[in-house]
Amino acid sequence: MAKVLIIGAGGVGQVVAHKCAQLPEVFSDITLASRTESKCKKIAEQIREKQGRVISTAQVDADNVPELVALILKLKPELVINVALPYQDLTIMDACLETGVNYLDTANYEPLDNAKFEYKWQWAYQDKFTKANLMALLGSGFDPGATNVFTAWIAKHYFDEIHTLDIIDVNGGNHGYPFATNFNPEINIREVTAECKHWENGEFVVTPPMSLKQSFTCPDAVGTYNIYRMYHEELESLTKNFPTLKKAQFWMSFGESYLKHLEVLGNVGMTRIDPVEFQGQQIVPIQFLKALLPDPSTLGPRTTGKTCIGCHVTGLKDGKPRKIFVYQISDHQTCYREVLSQAISYTTGVPAMIGAKLMIEKKWAKPGVWNMEQMEPDPFMADMNLYGLPWQVIEEPGFNLV
Ligand code: NDP
Repeated sequence: MAKVLIIGAGGVGQVVAHKCAQLPEVFSDITLASRTESKCKKIAEQIREKQGRVISTAQVDADNVPELVALILKLKPELVINVALPYQDLTIMDACLETGVNYLDTANYEPLDNAKFEYKWQWAYQDKFTKANLMALLGSGFDPGATNVFTAWIAKHYFDEIHTLDIIDVNGGNHGYPFATNFNPEINIREVTAECKHWENGEFVVTPPMSLKQSFTCPDAVGTYNIYRMYHEELESLTKNFPTLKKAQFWMSFGESYLKHLEVLGNVGMTRIDPVEFQGQQIVPIQFLKALLPDPSTLGPRTTGKTCIGCHVTGLKDGKPRKIFVYQISDHQTCYREVLSQAISYTTGVPAMIGAKLMIEKKWAKPGVWNMEQMEPDPFMADMNLYGLPWQVIEEPGFNLV
């Protein structure tokens, strides 16, 4: 039984709050805090109606360490679940250190003025968390998150040595808009317009964004989609923690309409992250664009179709080559019926709840700053099956990836 503080009341925060509320025996006391408290209150009302539980809400500016410290000292939670934006990771980690509270997030730190996400800033907290006897669990969403655990679980149960890793993220969903992003538009666009990096023979190789694609047929009739190679943050930790990997790539599906809109928006400067002067005031084009686009948390009722996210690993077992694919399929409307969110927020929020649960149950308890693959994978895999993200394994899948 534990008190948790969830920070961030967007698409993901909503799912985390619902899923924690479904487990009163683990999360006995829940506070949802965010910059705009009215969003927290709306979610609290949904939870009262749908899960029959009362959760508390609070207002906090997570860029402000003293404000965070005051809130944490008032609530005295065992764990802070950070599902605000990557910009707030370090301030929330600082506040956790100051108040002696464990920390969990779903995305690595990214400076507001430089679209460059890297673990180095958070890994630099290793000594501080270890000395304080506190744990920080990084990237407990789906990708990163479940994909890191899939890789660790596959490596543990099927291989003596893993050689290649392809993470495949397909969203076969349709929300009916010509252009909308499934999670925070600013973070999403910064991620997909970044140059591509993949791991090959001991180093990251840089290529232009979206310059390599292939067709991928998902299992279980989810469909065939174009998947594009791009850089994703779990490649940084997985290649470090699995040094036998010779090649590691991340692939994501995009529709033609999404890519065309993104190209045009980029060409006209709407995805710029630096301030520009407009009618006597400074505006950041990508932040203005976010204000125009549909709020991802409103996509739930109109999104149909399925997601399929998995890890394809090759390597050696008893000297013989082997291939394994582990994947998870979620249905947007099934997620919506359960927690009033589409599957992208759902597949991120459930692993955040599971990571938090394992920390509270002390099944994952290790002072320091850790990526998901550094934890024992079996309890997480078991909880995915129990709490809404059932997964499957295909041994020797028929597909050949580039
Ligand atoms: P949203 O934009 O929907 O929600 C973000 C929330 O954080 C909003 O409630 C926002 O408040 C709040 N927030 C922003 N800045 C502050 C601040 N300074 N202080 C307090 N609250 C703040 O994002 P999502 O829910 O889509 O994403 C949440 C996180 O999940 C992101 O870090 C994202 O990168 C990550 N993610 C991870 C995935 C994974 O698989 N690992 C996949 C998808 C997302 P306000 O409403 O006032 O703006």
